[in-house]
Amino acid sequence: MDSQTHASALDTLRFDNRFTRELPADPIDDNYCRQVTGACFSRVQPRSVIKPQLVAFAREVAAQLGLSEEACRSEAFAEVFVGNRLLDGMEPFAMCYGGHQFGNWAGQLGDGRAINLGEVLNAQGERYTLQLKGAGPTPYARQADGLAVLRSSVREFLCSEAMHHLGVPTTRALSLVLTGEQVSRDMFYDGHPKLEPGAVVCRVAPSFLRFGSFQILSARRDHTLLKQLLDYCIRTDFPELGEPSPEVYAAWFEEVCRRTAEMIVHWMRVGFVHGVMNTDNMSVLGLTIDYGPYGWLEDFDPDWTPNTTDAHQRRYRYGQQPQIAMWNLVQLANAIYPLLEHTEPFQRGLDAYADTYERANTRMLAHKLGLQDYQADSDDGLTTELLVILQLVETDMTLFYRCLAEVELAKATDSNISDTELMEPLMEAYYRPSELTDDYRQRLRGWLSQYAARAASDPLDDNARRQLMNRTNPKYVLRNYLAQLAIDQAEQGEFSMIEELLEVLRHPYDDQPGMEKYAEKRPDWARTKPGCSMLSCSS
Ligand code: AMP
Ligand code: MG
Repeated sequence: MDSQTHASALDTLRFDNRFTRELPADPIDDNYCRQVTGACFSRVQPRSVIKPQLVAFAREVAAQLGLSEEACRSEAFAEVFVGNRLLDGMEPFAMCYGGHQFGNWAGQLGDGRAINLGEVLNAQGERYTLQLKGAGPTPYARQADGLAVLRSSVREFLCSEAMHHLGVPTTRALSLVLTGEQVSRDMFYDGHPKLEPGAVVCRVAPSFLRFGSFQILSARRDHTLLKQLLDYCIRTDFPELGEPSPEVYAAWFEEVCRRTAEMIVHWMRVGFVHGVMNTDNMSVLGLTIDYGPYGWLEDFDPDWTPNTTDAHQRRYRYGQQPQIAMWNLVQLANAIYPLLEHTEPFQRGLDAYADTYERANTRMLAHKLGLQDYQADSDDGLTTELLVILQLVETDMTLFYRCLAEVELAKATDSNISDTELMEPLMEAYYRPSELTDDYRQRLRGWLSQYAARAASDPLDDNARRQLMNRTNPKYVLRNYLAQLAIDQAEQGEFSMIEELLEVLRHPYDDQPGMEKYAEKRPDWARTKPGCSMLSCSS
């Protein structure tokens, strides 16, 4: 096929740029850093790069956009999704937003290195914004270079897709393209910058509106534009709520609260730690957004955060994510308040958050144990004790739950069965088997007996219980060290591990014989290696 035919394969994309059509634009077209007021976005062109090279694409995302795999392998695809070439109908722009960073109001932030290409309407009438990350600076770049390196782009690409296949609401990733250029990064901000390969990810979501998109307008007391943006958001992304009105604003806030609660419960279920839950990184659609120094829990430690920038405060640690989401929702409420001027609707929304979280979380905990429903009488004690036991010795959370399905619960109360035999299926989950003292074994056995009794009274039989557990507890997650191994290879020009991980992570709940190496716990060499256990915001 010649490049002309390939280009026409991309020309199947139909653009309908509602955001730029309906909302006010920054009147200045020049690309320099500035405060942008009275506007929701600035028009900006992606930068051209020397030598785009496609590293990977996600065929499911391409299919949703109506793109064939052949089109994705074309030269035109790499050119377009690195930012070298615009298709008919693309109108690139960067969005203006603000946010609270680590608890402090930071003023205007905005898409400093994200450039939206336009909104695609697919054959099913679904709307998707295509957004390049790392395609050059914008008016919101605040003196930074607007670029992204391969390391962080591999992490964003793989994690977006892994999260989707785990059933976690998330923005998606269409493609990962190398720019052929080098970018300087001081990974640990310690005065040792290094050149790294530059790359661009194309992210895809129905909308990239964030809490901070509303906060910036409210902070500037631009209530006219605040109302216009909220009306736009409701009509475009929440049409089921009805035509915008004060009641619908309240319903919208409540819906954002509910979706956020559900998203966080999913994070807790799979052991995902976002790492930078600033309000500019919170989607009003309840999608996981902005994959930076995120990480996956290995040993179950609620105080763990992968982000070295947050090492002291640990604001965004695993166990605090539910409270932080609530704090962020309060900031969103404050931003929308001028449109309603009553606190009552906001209190209802925040109550809905607490309520949805409580219900979804207890249900999730029950399902992790293969119990049909959560029964507070028995299960409060059962789950609290388990969460304590998981912290007594270094225990891999993912493996523990997966292995727990293999334990024969009938044996737990049989005194002829030794602890060693009963616990055999769980051994894989322990990082330091020498920590398994008699006290620990006894306590675990006590819990297993309690669990066995509870499971026996549950409507689900053993088989159904195991199935429910294995649908709830993934076997394969994007372990930090796996992402780093894929990055190390990719930096040497070898992309096969990215492909292989993408494939394995498509079916995270399946056993996938032959792929067990990707389910293994973190090897000892990765315990303290940068990228595996510690990450900075440098990306
Ligand atoms: P993040 O912590 O990745 O969500 O980024 C916070 C803010 O910094 C956002 O406004 C980003 O657009 C901006 N930003 C981060 N890295 C860069 C970069 N290399 N160039 C320009 N802006 C950036
Ligand atoms: Mg961000």
